[in-house]
Amino acid sequence: MIFKLENSINQQVNLQNKGVELYIKREDAIHPFVSGNKYRKLKYNLLEAEKQGFKTLLTFGGAYSNHIAAVASAGHLFGFKTIGIIRGEELWTKIDDNPTLSFAKNHGMEFKFVSREVYRNKSSKAFIEALKNELGAFYLVPEGGTNSLAVMGCEEILTESDKDFNFVCSAVGTGGTISGLINASKPHQKVLGFPALKGDFLKLDISKFATQSNWELISDYHFGGYAKINEELVTFINQFKSDFNIPLDPVYTGKMLFGIFDLIEKGYFPKGSKILAIHTGGLQGIEGMNAILKKKNLPKIT
Ligand SMILES: *Cc1c(COP(=O)(O)O)cnc(C)c1O
Repeated sequence: MIFKLENSINQQVNLQNKGVELYIKREDAIHPFVSGNKYRKLKYNLLEAEKQGFKTLLTFGGAYSNHIAAVASAGHLFGFKTIGIIRGEELWTKIDDNPTLSFAKNHGMEFKFVSREVYRNKSSKAFIEALKNELGAFYLVPEGGTNSLAVMGCEEILTESDKDFNFVCSAVGTGGTISGLINASKPHQKVLGFPALKGDFLKLDISKFATQSNWELISDYHFGGYAKINEELVTFINQFKSDFNIPLDPVYTGKMLFGIFDLIEKGYFPKGSKILAIHTGGLQGIEGMNAILKKKNLPKIT
């Protein structure tokens, strides 16, 4: 079995005298590279690509993207050719210095590096048509992997036995994962999203997929924006791993758990609340982040 869905257990984090219970759903343990929500988001897309007879997957991402690593790995596992449209023209000389890109390359992904201006057209019909003319037929997986099939896959993260939790927490990038969680949640549960980036568009994006209104975004823990990080966050991630033996990634789950801990301290959750935080994975990004931290003379993620 390639994917270990049985590894995704709810692991309790022992908080002393905080008046709440916190569990982590270990979706990170499904697979080392197609981890967590990226497995969930790709599942039905790959089945659809196969059904439609496509041999190639094409997608978009940044240089450290968990999604790029996941698509390359999944393509390798299931026999699809993969093409990554990567943001940043200058990166083509740096593939071997970048752990995510070199991983993807070693799993057969071909790259097309484009400028940030060109990358902005990633959802334009004309741009996609031009890519088809240049590269041949492909099944398009959007940036971050979010579409209705991805949301359907993420609805499988929550199971019947999770119904006793009062709060379900998730990091938010494009909003596909939280949309699935919202759709699968019970009306008495509240789904809290912790955006990993700045921006008001997320609420609207989630509303396109979400079928219930029992959710809220908590936007105070993005640490200045996507992939922005400081010493306080690194310290938190390292402490969390040493206290609970659970590694967190610096872009998504580290920020979410920092937020949950801060909210617990501030008394946000009523006494007796049972909180389930989804570990969406992303651990492949630690190595690349550590290279950046080293350049900035900051402590590394251990
Ligand atoms: C991609 C990713 C997310 C964000 O998921 P969205 O569906 O885009 O909101 C969260 N956590 C991790 C670890 C990720 O890799």
